[in-house]
Amino acid sequence: MARLVRIVIGLGLCAGIGSIPVATLAQQQGGAAWDYTGKLGPFHWGKLDPAYKTCADGKEQSPIDIRGAHLDKNLQPIEFHYLAGPMTLVNTGHTVQVTAAPGSYIIANGTRYDLVQFHFHHPGEEAVKGTLPDMDVHLVHKSADGKIAVVAVRLMEGNANAVLAALWEHLPKTVGASDKMPDLMSPLGLIPRDPGYWMYEGSLTAPPCTEGVQWFVMERPVELSRGQLRAFGALYPVNSRMLQSPHGRKVEASE
Ligand SMILES: [Zn+2]
Repeated sequence: MARLVRIVIGLGLCAGIGSIPVATLAQQQGGAAWDYTGKLGPFHWGKLDPAYKTCADGKEQSPIDIRGAHLDKNLQPIEFHYLAGPMTLVNTGHTVQVTAAPGSYIIANGTRYDLVQFHFHHPGEEAVKGTLPDMDVHLVHKSADGKIAVVAVRLMEGNANAVLAALWEHLPKTVGASDKMPDLMSPLGLIPRDPGYWMYEGSLTAPPCTEGVQWFVMERPVELSRGQLRAFGALYPVNSRMLQSPHGRKVEASE
């Protein structure tokens, strides 16, 4: 599966397959248009807009291949204080993004970060020892002083995931479309039970590639069914950035 995923990425970048519209919500919000393939793809992001310069010049970019992690016995498990609440899904033109109701937060490495949104990449961006996951979910959090922390969970084909089953009923098919879920939902079912995680300093994985982002990559993946994988893949055949050089950064592992 991992090998197949890599081939698909290669094709995507070279031949520009996929038909994701380039006039996206991000463009409407002021930044230059960007995409995951072709002339607006990840190799060119840094030149598309002065505001995206870090995508090309940054030395702490994400995603990275996670290997050789250093065990840090002082790292505590992340506390997930996720509430059930209303959720809204938006097709941004780059992903499907879910906005959670206020009140959900994590305590990670001694800091409280409030959950802002979560979204998906296909294939997943977090490689572990060179292997990319089928998909991933990025849960984006912000602290009171503006520090961003992303919890990344790798999604691998297997049994169906209940949270995704509920969310996928409301997948907005066209760019700019949104759908609000009628039921109260908690994203906790997207987090593996095993508390192990890797921690490193990185960036947003999409323009403007802002650095200073604290990454927490859960060590255990979560399963999703082949049907769930295909449903997202039909909307976004490729919406992931290629791996970035660690430039000497260290990855720490919790116990
Ligand atoms: Zn992401």
